[in-house]
Amino acid sequence: MATVGILSALAEEQQGLRQSLVQPVQFSRAGRTFWRGSYGPHQVVLGLSRIGKVAAATTATAMIEGFGLTHLVFTGVAGGIGHDVRVGDVVVADECLQHDMDASPLFARYEVPLYARSRFACDPEVSERLAQAAVSANASRPLHRGLIASGDRFVSGAVEVAALRQGLADAGHPVLAVEMEGAAVAQVCFDYRIPLGLVRTISDRADDAAPVDFSRFVAEVAGPSACAILTRFLDLLPNQ
Ligand code: SAH
Repeated sequence: MATVGILSALAEEQQGLRQSLVQPVQFSRAGRTFWRGSYGPHQVVLGLSRIGKVAAATTATAMIEGFGLTHLVFTGVAGGIGHDVRVGDVVVADECLQHDMDASPLFARYEVPLYARSRFACDPEVSERLAQAAVSANASRPLHRGLIASGDRFVSGAVEVAALRQGLADAGHPVLAVEMEGAAVAQVCFDYRIPLGLVRTISDRADDAAPVDFSRFVAEVAGPSACAILTRFLDLLPNQ
């Protein structure tokens, strides 16, 4: 039986999922609240990541250690920074990277020291199912697959986002979206060998209008979009 951890960045994204769980039971760990229940043949554990890399890594670790997860899926919103990635589009990450990691000149820019890599891969099977779920939940929303960058910064300026995009592209990392948690959770999942899927709906373009776009999107679209994608994902997950 699969035990699927679902981390949401926002309470709005978790609400609908919690209502779909059969007999949800509340647990407390590391100051976080988790809900465990069943969904069809699967056990599901829901958690709120909190914001930023360290908080999200702690939440992921507490969830993996506490509930014996077989898979972890992260859902949230992100700023679109790929040229054709627009508000409302969905991005499923194949890989993620920490855009604020810089131990140069000791290690290459963006490389995570002692891991010999900059990018952490998501699980191809989980990602494929997430992509199918995203298409079936929101056929009208364009879906992108590729690299997501995470860092401890809400990116909200045209100049800043252009520099970020260019710096990453110059180092061979063409990025679709920026957020604040995914790559940290991917590093935790790498250490524990837990297959990870990461899906983000684009709330803003990380430019000067980002704070306004972000707030409006979260209030109106993020919750229903995440719930629709994740319930379809669970429907598609084979009964192991
Ligand atoms: N005060 C806000 C803080 C949100 S921070 C609130 O809680 O309502 C933004 C969140 O959305 C982070 O979790 C991050 O992962 C994601 N995000 C969306 N757009 C982003 C952007 N342009 N830059 C960085 N993170 C972004």
